[in-house]
Amino acid sequence: MRTIDLRSDTVTLPTPAMRKAMYEAELGDDVYGEDPTVNRLEALVAEKLGKEAGLLVVSGTMGNLTALMAHAQRGDEVIMGHLAHTYLYEAGGISVLGGVHVRTVPNLPNGMLNPADVELAVRDPNNIHFPHSRVVCLENTHNRCGGAVLSPAQMATVREVAQRHGLMVHLDGARIFNAAVALGIDASEIAAQVDSVQLCFSKGLSAPVGSAVVGSADYIKEVRRQRKIVGGAMRQAGIIAAAAIVALEEMVDRLAEDHENAQVLAQGIKEIDGLDVDLDSVQSDIIMITLTASDVEITDLVKAFRAEGLMINNIDASHFRAVTHYGIEREDISEALAILSRVMKQVA
Ligand SMILES: *Cc1c(COP(=O)(O)O)cnc(C)c1O
Repeated sequence: MRTIDLRSDTVTLPTPAMRKAMYEAELGDDVYGEDPTVNRLEALVAEKLGKEAGLLVVSGTMGNLTALMAHAQRGDEVIMGHLAHTYLYEAGGISVLGGVHVRTVPNLPNGMLNPADVELAVRDPNNIHFPHSRVVCLENTHNRCGGAVLSPAQMATVREVAQRHGLMVHLDGARIFNAAVALGIDASEIAAQVDSVQLCFSKGLSAPVGSAVVGSADYIKEVRRQRKIVGGAMRQAGIIAAAAIVALEEMVDRLAEDHENAQVLAQGIKEIDGLDVDLDSVQSDIIMITLTASDVEITDLVKAFRAEGLMINNIDASHFRAVTHYGIEREDISEALAILSRVMKQVA
């Protein structure tokens, strides 16, 4: 029996074109700046995001870590949403390794931060009680807010506050291309609202490894040094850069299919007793599903779905998260709905 794995878009496997590009990649020592494939990727990602320079890093976590360590010194403060991936799921790295303090403001359900809340969180630089505010982080699409898409106009409202106080703006753009495809705009229009972006090649874009940080040339020089500090400078990294080039060139436009599949899945789930979805909240490849049936443990349901051939995770006691991605076809969505319906009939 084939398992339909909707736990995450990180489960995507490299495409045949990626494997071929990896096999054939021209290589060199990237710590000497001599890997032509890495150099090609870094120039390409910078161009696509409309920034001066780019840097290949091992993971999204390392991208956000090195990006923020390049913006903020030990004892400085970074402002982000209380549901930010960097706050919740990156092991506190910027505090552990960067000595950077985090100040959270509430994330709105649409993934945004209220600019007035950001304004209030900015510290008075003349008060000795306070750390110095340096950076504001946004996330687009917003993972924990169900793949919520932030428009450039929304992002501009936070950027305006940051600029007025001399703060940098960093974007956790792990899924920036999902946001761009959902909005029908170029990713550079999103990146134009911020000073730095971290983006993942290994999520919906299906590359096996890697993320990039983009920004100004001087800034990326500093991020490169931070990457060295955390042990992320790699040698013949063209092997992974080759797959990331294919990701950028061939895998962006097809994200629209994942978004369509997410809509079909959400609409189907809406019809199943015991489950509910807020259709307005489904904006990209992530679907948050509410368990409305009582008298059933969510973890037992996760096991029951899995026994029938469907993998989805619960994120708390009453919500599941499903993610569509490369490798999931429309018939898999139909099959997933059949499994959900069958299992829920037994319990609801
Ligand atoms: C996955 C993800 C990351 C981290 O990426 P890894 O490659 O798993 O370290 C950062 N931010 C967001 C929003 C993510 O979804």
